[in-house]
Amino acid sequence: MATETSPALPLTPATHAPGPLSRTILGIFVAVPLAAVIIGVPIALVHGWVSWLDIVMLVVIYVVGVHGITIGYHRLFTHDAFTTGRTMRAILALAGSLAVEGRVVDWVADHRKHHQYSDADGDPHSPWQYGPGTWGLTRGFIHAHVGWLFTYTGTDTAKYAPDLIADRAVDRISRLWPLIAIISMAVPTAIGYAVDGWVGAAQAFFWVTLVRIALVHHMTWSINSVCHIWGKRPFATRDRSANVAWLAPISGGESWHSYHHADPSSARHGVLRWQLDTSAMVIRMLERLGLVTGVKWPTPERIERKKVKIDSAAV
Ligand SMILES: [Zn+2]
Ligand SMILES: [Zn+2]
Repeated sequence: MATETSPALPLTPATHAPGPLSRTILGIFVAVPLAAVIIGVPIALVHGWVSWLDIVMLVVIYVVGVHGITIGYHRLFTHDAFTTGRTMRAILALAGSLAVEGRVVDWVADHRKHHQYSDADGDPHSPWQYGPGTWGLTRGFIHAHVGWLFTYTGTDTAKYAPDLIADRAVDRISRLWPLIAIISMAVPTAIGYAVDGWVGAAQAFFWVTLVRIALVHHMTWSINSVCHIWGKRPFATRDRSANVAWLAPISGGESWHSYHHADPSSARHGVLRWQLDTSAMVIRMLERLGLVTGVKWPTPERIERKKVKIDSAAV
């Protein structure tokens, strides 16, 4: 779906305004992992409450979940950056579900709407919603980073993601998302228990569920907040999307957000020299293995055309 070039769709009506119960559950999901990182990690490190098994499981599930989001949810399902068969689509939907960022159908619908209205009325999470200036951008940063999740009334998935709803396997995985998310928390905890009893289970739950979820969420949310406020803007876009280098290694290359908004269906976001984009590297590997086809690699001429004359404008 070429969201960047499609005719403007009308704003959709509210579909599911979060009620008090939803907001409370969401608040727990936001606050507890954050507290685990800020308060729990220093205490755990001082007492040595960490094992190599915890770190290995954290890194593996983080890397798989993040690339499930970047390659699956984002570059494939949202932007059709390449084509692949039913099995790979299902694997990527499952991998993205491990990141605990919601149903793939909702994620894609919200993100297509973000591109359609980027940093204008209708964008679900623009940091510019409250205007420029210190106070406006402070409120905007909080809104774009996490606040919108508490107030957003939802995107009409039938309008914004009909292709995914029509894909039976992906739609089924989308509906099973809560179960997959729980499994991503339960399995590492069970492994920790098998290795070191209840202490191992508690440590694994802390590191591989709480800390991992906090890291994954704040990394992804930073693409919506940080990458729409600060950074370099070498490419012509109609919004405030920007490249943020320090986020690239932990975001699978998603923080090369200036090029992404200039050329949304490109399979590579980090198109300039030395721009690390591990998601593009994995897509290239899958292409060589014959597992994906029709990859939309940007040509040097296309990249050149997307550049602006005045480079590196930053806020
Ligand atoms: Zn964006
Ligand atoms: Zn996108």
